[in-house]
Amino acid sequence: MTRGTYWLEHAWLGDCVEPGVTVEVADGRITAVRTGTDAPPPGAEILRGLTLPGLANAHSHAFHRALRGTVQVGSGTFWTWREVMYSVADRLTPETYHALARAVYAEMALAGITCVGEFHYLHHDRGGARYADPNAMGEALIVAAAEAGVRITLLDTAYLSSGFGERPTAHQLRFSDGSADAWAERCSVLKEQDHARIGAAIHSVRAVPAEQLATVARWAEERRAPLHVHLSEQTAENDACLAAHGVTPTRLLADHGVLGPRTTGVHNTHLTDEDIALLGDSGTGTCMCPTTERDLADGIGPAVALQRAGSPLSLGSDSHAVIDLLEEARAMELDERLRTRTRGHWTAAALLRAATEDGHAALGWPEAGAIEPGRAADLTTIALDSVRTAGPPPRLGAETAVFAASAADVRHTVVGGRHVVRDGAHTLVPDVPRALADAIAALSG
Ligand SMILES: [Zn+2]
Repeated sequence: MTRGTYWLEHAWLGDCVEPGVTVEVADGRITAVRTGTDAPPPGAEILRGLTLPGLANAHSHAFHRALRGTVQVGSGTFWTWREVMYSVADRLTPETYHALARAVYAEMALAGITCVGEFHYLHHDRGGARYADPNAMGEALIVAAAEAGVRITLLDTAYLSSGFGERPTAHQLRFSDGSADAWAERCSVLKEQDHARIGAAIHSVRAVPAEQLATVARWAEERRAPLHVHLSEQTAENDACLAAHGVTPTRLLADHGVLGPRTTGVHNTHLTDEDIALLGDSGTGTCMCPTTERDLADGIGPAVALQRAGSPLSLGSDSHAVIDLLEEARAMELDERLRTRTRGHWTAAALLRAATEDGHAALGWPEAGAIEPGRAADLTTIALDSVRTAGPPPRLGAETAVFAASAADVRHTVVGGRHVVRDGAHTLVPDVPRALADAIAALSG
């Protein structure tokens, strides 16, 4: 049994900042939390700053990290951006994707992310040829997460069509299993590990024919696994769905048994009042990805109304225009301020809840996301003495972290009691910028 003790200079305990907190850890779990310990116990690892529960990045496509910078040249829309994204997808192999994902997940660990939801649809070789191991790509991502020291939920994604009644395009042949039954057969072979859980995803209502949606939903139901779906990110998707089926994408998902408390709609940007009620009443979650949504000119989703209707909120860095969960959290609030010209839609505590406890729940890790006995020993420490965070009193540490800190202020990341980032340096991947540069350079040839 591996044991350890951490002393947290300041800790976020869900509703307040507590000074001097000792956390005992055994076998990856928190066994005791003691407040009011002014000095570190002998032998304790000292975490100076404000320690939060580990951050959950609920929506990632690791390979999009290779687009950073490149896609900022010129103008266009989501759809022109997608063409550039497809050209990168065309070049990936299990080997190059493993190297890229390892570097991207290491960047996430440096940003305080302890768990990633990888919405994974790049399954097959060029032209759709099957690899000898049909899950070679997904397995490469699971290994990459282990090497970067973070938890992963591999949201294995069904992607079968390019639009309503349309066969996959040449690019999309790598994504398609041919049918939802073939998708289910392939991903049933994937094995969970200590750091890895398997969930399901429906790429979108464009990408899975309506009559096959229930197959994916049933697969997730049988395993009590999370089920994610890109939902109404673009008005063009809504228009095409209305033309093909006479209903909105949300209504289509509801009619085929996709909605429910283990389901998360990603983006949920362009919704009707009825859509919001369907999502809220069914307890379906909403994953907001504000830095991507603004980068791709998607629009601002109705997160306030969704949460009020009963949809729990989580956050994701999606296309990795930046990887910074603190920025995602404040962007959700700040976008709403711009839209409504009023302040204070969410407190810092509510934004942190989306970034921690509710994000983990959306990824099927309900034991993570809080500093409490019995919970996973996943901790993220934000410096309160950096050029961005110095000044405010520690009791306002949550407000400072959410509204002023950045990923660069993450000093420590602990995952399952293991110190993955210490004093801002990754303990498993020695040179993360170099790993990113090399992995991305290998794709440009
Ligand atoms: Zn996405």
